[in-house]
Amino acid sequence: MADSRLSALEAFLKDYPSIKYIPPSSADFASVREVWYHGRRDTPLAILQPQSAEEVSLLVKYAKENGIQFTVRVGGHNLEGRAIVDGALVIDLRALTSVTVADDLQSATVQGGILQQDLAIKLWSKGLVTPIGTIPAVGYVGWATYGGYGPFSSHWGLGVDQIIGATVVNSNGDIIKADENLLKGIRGAGGTFGVIVDVTVKVYPLKSLLAGAIIFDAQDICKALTEFNAAYRRLLEDGLPSELTIQQLVYNAPPGRLFGVSFFWSSDNTEEGQRWKEKIASLGPVIMNTVALKNIPDWVTEMRALVPSSVYGGGSHTHNLKQITTEAAQVLGRNLSKMPSDPACMFSVHQLRGPSTSHSTNDSNFTYKNNSVFAEREPHYMLEILGFSTTEENKHVCEQWASDLANQFQQETDTTNILPHAYISLDPINNGNMVRIFGSHAEEVFALKKTYDPDNVFALALPLLK
Ligand SMILES: Cc1cc2nc3c(=O)[nH]c(=O)nc-3n(C[C@H](O)[C@H](O)[C@H](O)COP(=O)(O)OP(=O)(O)OC[C@H]3O[C@@H](n4cnc5c(N)ncnc54)[C@H](O)[C@@H]3O)c2cc1C
Repeated sequence: MADSRLSALEAFLKDYPSIKYIPPSSADFASVREVWYHGRRDTPLAILQPQSAEEVSLLVKYAKENGIQFTVRVGGHNLEGRAIVDGALVIDLRALTSVTVADDLQSATVQGGILQQDLAIKLWSKGLVTPIGTIPAVGYVGWATYGGYGPFSSHWGLGVDQIIGATVVNSNGDIIKADENLLKGIRGAGGTFGVIVDVTVKVYPLKSLLAGAIIFDAQDICKALTEFNAAYRRLLEDGLPSELTIQQLVYNAPPGRLFGVSFFWSSDNTEEGQRWKEKIASLGPVIMNTVALKNIPDWVTEMRALVPSSVYGGGSHTHNLKQITTEAAQVLGRNLSKMPSDPACMFSVHQLRGPSTSHSTNDSNFTYKNNSVFAEREPHYMLEILGFSTTEENKHVCEQWASDLANQFQQETDTTNILPHAYISLDPINNGNMVRIFGSHAEEVFALKKTYDPDNVFALALPLLK
């Protein structure tokens, strides 16, 4: 069966020699197939690398006409490796990486196959930035269109709120400009309605970056986490500048388990940034402080080392909290003291405040809220609980730890502090529960799917809408 489908595909591709064809028999197959998650070893029918939007359109038409299921792949960082499915074609967009900055320097049109690191470096060379996530090898569109938390969140908001236009290969295989309804769906439900061949996003001028890690003494992780968060809450009450984004991290490094914050100051007023660096460092006993002026290429290099490049297991959970209260910090701390020492077990806290939240005084916030299907607009802390492992043998213990943490948190802390929504990209366990992901927008997501993909051509796109 696969052979007859492959020979038909090969005959079709003869007319389009620029589309790169990588069947399982190719010497490149194993390396091109590689994704972050190693727990599923699915073998796709073949991998195809189109070189233009027109070639993506040809492939979608071909797959539809021949009843072949396909996935879309960019950075390969879906937590369950869902960009690769047994027997399905892979449309691998990684050759589509151009970035075109508008003349007024307010926006850029970014092709759908670019990785965050390459986008950030290209914009930096023009004195510009746009929000990206913490891990540079993640695909940009896959990060931005499902939410997009990261080190610019407090200043300029989520990835989803940067999107002002998109070009999509739709379910007929036509290349179309997304209308306002489709854009609303793309802002939160990503590629479920079509292949996103480019997005136009807001960009911002920035010449200096003050960034790095502040690591605290955390031999007693419960005490360290509780005291840091109590002090941080006091700082917040006095007011924190929007240019500062703090991400708390607990991770395993060669010296052992570390607790600290990723400090990110996105303003050219670096003197003020240095003052905030001191204030954040004063919130606990510091054992290492790498915060310094740097450029985006250097920051990208540093961040690449933060997580292993491939993992097993499957224990990723999120909770959105209103506050990291003392009670919350203590439950987290108790569980973090038991975190397995595998480098793929991690815990982090993304804080969302500022323009993407409903508490923002900025009028455009209401536009964000109404023009996207991203649900959680309360200011919040998104707990990212990653129970992965670097070896297959470790996977059960890591998964169990993450699941215990998520469950105990739910059972042992004030439930009124836990917001109703989960973050789709980091909580695959909740991917079947569309109300938990999209809240009051869930029905709208299904309705948009019916309108834009009535035949479910993009059946394997995320989220899986049945
Ligand atoms: C190590 C790690 C760190 C992460 N850090 C963060 C973080 O800091 N903040 C955050 O918010 N999230 C984070 N994430 C989650 C990440 O943003 C999502 O998993 C994202 O969807 C991955 O995109 P990708 O292109 O790398 O993945 P892939 O596995 O290549 O793609 C996953 C799916 O996304 C869809 N997709 C991607 N691109 C397109 C496109 N152009 N057109 C249509 N559909 C498309 C497809 O359905 C595809 O199958 C992280 C994930 C990992 C594994």
